[in-house]
Amino acid sequence: MKMIGLIGGMSWESSAEYYRLINEGVRSRLGPTASARCVLWSFNFAEIEELQHAGDWSRLTERMVEAARRLEDAGVDMLLICTNTMHRMAADVEAAVSVPLLHIADPTAESLKAAGIKRVGLLGTAFTMEHDFYRGRLSEKHGLEVIVPGSEDRAEVHRIIYEELVAGKIVPASRVAYRAVISRLVEHGAEAVILGCTEIMLLVGAEDSSVPLFDTTSLHAAAATQMAMSS
Ligand code: GLU
Repeated sequence: MKMIGLIGGMSWESSAEYYRLINEGVRSRLGPTASARCVLWSFNFAEIEELQHAGDWSRLTERMVEAARRLEDAGVDMLLICTNTMHRMAADVEAAVSVPLLHIADPTAESLKAAGIKRVGLLGTAFTMEHDFYRGRLSEKHGLEVIVPGSEDRAEVHRIIYEELVAGKIVPASRVAYRAVISRLVEHGAEAVILGCTEIMLLVGAEDSSVPLFDTTSLHAAAATQMAMSS
């Protein structure tokens, strides 16, 4: 089994889900006492979030590259960035190490294509919904048409992530707000919705949507498990 390197702590609420999902995946394949070989690099998210909101992406890139190199030194065979937003610097991370980086958008897009989805709604941080690094990969590499909520909805989706989800708060009124945003995406033609922030799966599930939800945390963790088992 390959050793998985996780760049996490962004936030630890979702890194805990990655750890659980990857270990459950290994157990279901290899037996009840089997577990994943992995190393987790866990940031203090307060520092990361401050740099994000200050727009200091070059400092963030340095921090991410350092984490990737330390994990490579620790002997990992592959890397995961356990957040959608921080894939903004995926190319820099990839270039800094010799082990492969499993990009979160790729298993997500493969699942969407396998389900025959062409037009998909995207929920995530404002960085993920508004900047090109994520939507661009889905459309240019995978041929998906990506739609995002309107500006007020984007602001609310972003606020709930940073004020609640990364802080471990699950607020029923926020679930209602997400349901409404999802239904507006469906009205605009979304055939499915990507939960493109690794904490959103803590708040909403299939019962909150009339179209299928594609959870990036689960899809990324499943792809990592599969890659760790491949020869
Ligand atoms: N985990 C979130 C994501 O998937 C947000 C936290 C972050 O900004 O990294 O984008």
